[in-house]
Amino acid sequence: MDPLFCRCPSNAMHCPFCGAHDTKVIDSRLVAEGDQVRRRRECLACEERFTTFETAELVMPRLIKQDGSRQPFDEDKLRAGMQRALEKRPVSVERLEAAIAHIKHKLRATGEREVKSRVLGELVMLELQKLDEVAYIRFASVYRRFQDLNEFREEIERLAREPSKD
Ligand SMILES: [Zn+2]
Repeated sequence: MDPLFCRCPSNAMHCPFCGAHDTKVIDSRLVAEGDQVRRRRECLACEERFTTFETAELVMPRLIKQDGSRQPFDEDKLRAGMQRALEKRPVSVERLEAAIAHIKHKLRATGEREVKSRVLGELVMLELQKLDEVAYIRFASVYRRFQDLNEFREEIERLAREPSKD
């Protein structure tokens, strides 16, 4: 297959041996202080393996929404959502920014070109839980659309049982 005539997205990775674009990521790690992702890939057509260095900016996976639509990752939207949860909570901007950097790092490290938006939601909850439990519950109660109050109560009870990490 000639990659020039391939109809796949222009940022798709082509096999340098046969030009096929169906490749599987077998290993993915951040290099150059997180600015680049080094990936070990295997071609699904000819099974050759090769290494790529991809700019981390370009490899932020797109989000697959519940209805199947795709959206680019939106850092401003993520920040706004987290700020809403953290409103009037004693959490510094520095800690929020560190949490956002951490979430982005984890998204990139998945090595996937697309991830379910749920994955992002779970990452946000993990980070909020570390920052502030009130913010975590605010976010989780909206995000998870707790199906009934019991589930919500269980979550609060579970948090109350866990010793504080600070
Ligand atoms: Zn190939």
